[in-house]
Amino acid sequence: MSNYELVVGLEIHARIATKSKMFCSCNNEFFGKPPNCHVCPICTGFPGMLPVLNEEALIKGIKAALALNCEIPAKSKFDRKNYFYPDLPKAFQISQYDEPVSKNGYVDIDVDGEKKRIGITRLHLEEDAGKLTHTASGTLCDFNRCGTPLMEVVSEPDIRSAKEASLYAQELQKILRYVGAAECDMEKGGMRFDANVSIRKQGETKLGTRAEVKNLNSFRSLEKAIEYEFKRQIEVLESGGKVIQETRGFDDVKQITISQRTKEEANDYRYFPEPDLPPIYTEKDFVEKLRLELPELPSLRKIRFLKEYGISENDARILTDDPFLANFYEKVVKISGDPKRSCSYITTNLIGLMKAEDETNLDFRNLKISVENLADLVSRISKGEITNNIGKQVFEIMYQEGKNAEQVIKEQGFADSDNEADLEIWCKEVISQNPGPLAQYKSGKESIIGFFVGQVMQKSKGKANPSKVKEKLLKLLN
Ligand SMILES: [Zn+2]
Repeated sequence: MSNYELVVGLEIHARIATKSKMFCSCNNEFFGKPPNCHVCPICTGFPGMLPVLNEEALIKGIKAALALNCEIPAKSKFDRKNYFYPDLPKAFQISQYDEPVSKNGYVDIDVDGEKKRIGITRLHLEEDAGKLTHTASGTLCDFNRCGTPLMEVVSEPDIRSAKEASLYAQELQKILRYVGAAECDMEKGGMRFDANVSIRKQGETKLGTRAEVKNLNSFRSLEKAIEYEFKRQIEVLESGGKVIQETRGFDDVKQITISQRTKEEANDYRYFPEPDLPPIYTEKDFVEKLRLELPELPSLRKIRFLKEYGISENDARILTDDPFLANFYEKVVKISGDPKRSCSYITTNLIGLMKAEDETNLDFRNLKISVENLADLVSRISKGEITNNIGKQVFEIMYQEGKNAEQVIKEQGFADSDNEADLEIWCKEVISQNPGPLAQYKSGKESIIGFFVGQVMQKSKGKANPSKVKEKLLKLLN
């Protein structure tokens, strides 16, 4: 197996986050809606209907391309990709062929601590097709998805392992989300992958014949499909056969790829310029204006978090994976002034509780705990008003019930000011119960005070404030 090298290029489709479809005013928010309620004569291909380009889709496409370090040519155009299939009532898809809106970019990924650059051939714009549902009594067509705006990001064949493919796809998802160009929600079909997989002998520079595995809709199936193809193609070559250029599907249950059809060549699609849409001319000033509007991208933000907040690499990655969470964290830090504790309450306590509820879906947008309330809790712990141990318990109730820290502390009797009398009793008890350490303290071993504090903390079941305990003990001992 090690005699062979895996070569992968990815085509990633992402639905652009716009209000309306690519060439008509139908609503782009169709997920979960009844079939065929977001359709009009344009997106269902009635004769004589004229498409009009959605400006928002163009702008978001260009912003995504800039974030992927692409060039934006001064001129691009749309083409018709002709094919006949029931999910495509026009019998052609409006896409971009030889003059895409952007080209020649790259994305850097982190593979086991090493930076690797994956080239991007192009990012182009196109419309999606409808959706077919095959039933026992026939095939049903839903055209709600027909004409929704897509960007297709085509990578160079720079990927050398299933893991690299997944890391690249995850990085792309992050970037598109940061830019606000696409939600890339795979559960809703907002992002899908086609993997071009080939193999060659180690040291060989010519590319082997590739098979294209279509419509992978999770990072896991992307990895599994590539791993399977690698093995399959080696077996074909080792048994004296030839890999054929074809389109394959992935069976999620059996975890294998299956031949679907031999691959069409570009000329099978009879591409020609879309006569109903004028070419797009992008002026330099316009592109530069969009570049200025780009947010800080995830890889740079992670580096800044490391430097500015002194948190661990892993924590910085978790926080910057989702722009919403990164913003949430920075707001909490701004109010609490304690970056490390704010971080651990999010990456350990918050995410821990969320994962206990639903491992697969971490939805930070609908939290019951607000920035202000979390910042207030963190400040109270930092100032020593409550212990970290109590803080964790308070946090759990805040997370479940949406109350603020003060409310929870009062309701649960966590406030240590109530324990002033108890504190004195506990301290006296601990001193009288430990004559040995007491003698050591009296003979000058001052560090033994830590032992006494620990004992009092135990008696208080963690509720006492350690700095107050120490103060009280010192008073009693001296
Ligand atoms: Zn429409």
